[in-house]
Amino acid sequence: MNVLIVYAHPQPRSLNGALRDFTVQHLQAAGHHVQVSDLYAMQWKTTIDEHDAPQRDPSEPFHASLDSMKAYQSGTQSPDIAREQEKLRWADTVIFQFPLWWFSMPAILKGWVDRVYAYGFAYGVGEHSDTHWGDRYGEGSLSGKRAMLVVTTGGWESHYSARGINGPIDDVLFPIQHGMLFYPGFDVLPPFVAYRTSRVDGATFETMTRALGARLDSLATTAPIPYRRQNHGDYDIPALTLKNGIADGKTGFAAHIA
Ligand code: FAD
Repeated sequence: MNVLIVYAHPQPRSLNGALRDFTVQHLQAAGHHVQVSDLYAMQWKTTIDEHDAPQRDPSEPFHASLDSMKAYQSGTQSPDIAREQEKLRWADTVIFQFPLWWFSMPAILKGWVDRVYAYGFAYGVGEHSDTHWGDRYGEGSLSGKRAMLVVTTGGWESHYSARGINGPIDDVLFPIQHGMLFYPGFDVLPPFVAYRTSRVDGATFETMTRALGARLDSLATTAPIPYRRQNHGDYDIPALTLKNGIADGKTGFAAHIA
């Protein structure tokens, strides 16, 4: 299997760095091909701007979405963006690894998504009409591929439990897992979350890597989160609300899981 790890932590000698090294070694030992996009080491450009579409008409106002489409379609994207898209095409599975910072991903990784997910590549794909609102949420250019988050948190597992003060971890990660991964077509595997990181020592690290290793061994067989697919009958189109009779009585993120 080809596995791409998109990794965001500024310090190689960190818990994240150790988990990343473990993941690479574990996957390679199992015979998988691995590429790592180490965003800090690559000095990844975080912000999307006119330099991402070098051939654009400079007399026109920069439009993040349309200019990304024109650059993508004409093959004139910034080379760093094109390289990451090529890695995504190559990968069967993509692991996104990062520390939870302010209930989300570090800005450098968000900037990777903003820039690599060009219009025409990750969105704006497929027929757009009143009966088919694009190939997305379960369909799209990245369908057939699997994705998994590997996340570390300072907060305890109980803080992220169903009644925990931070909100359930599945809710905290929903915009990433549903909005950034399921949207362009990935099958999204349940996340691997390492909680309470300030208490990690040699013994907990060993327990953690044993659990992570088991998740890596089952990347191809783990059942994805059963998010409802947009174009498979659960939603009224173009309103894109759940139909009567689907998840009745449920609202919010949980209603979009079958
Ligand atoms: P490190 O600090 O590198 O390490 C953590 C512990 O692991 C240390 O005790 C270290 O000694 C030990 N360790 C490291 N490597 C090894 C090894 N090889 N073997 C054994 N032990 C090892 N947390 C939340 O829950 N929610 C938030 O919203 C949130 N927001 C944050 C925002 C910011 C800007 C920052 C800086 C932190 C935030 N945090 C939050 C905390 C953050 O998620 C954790 O600090 C982070 O996940 C820890 O990962 P790390 O790789 O940086 O760990």
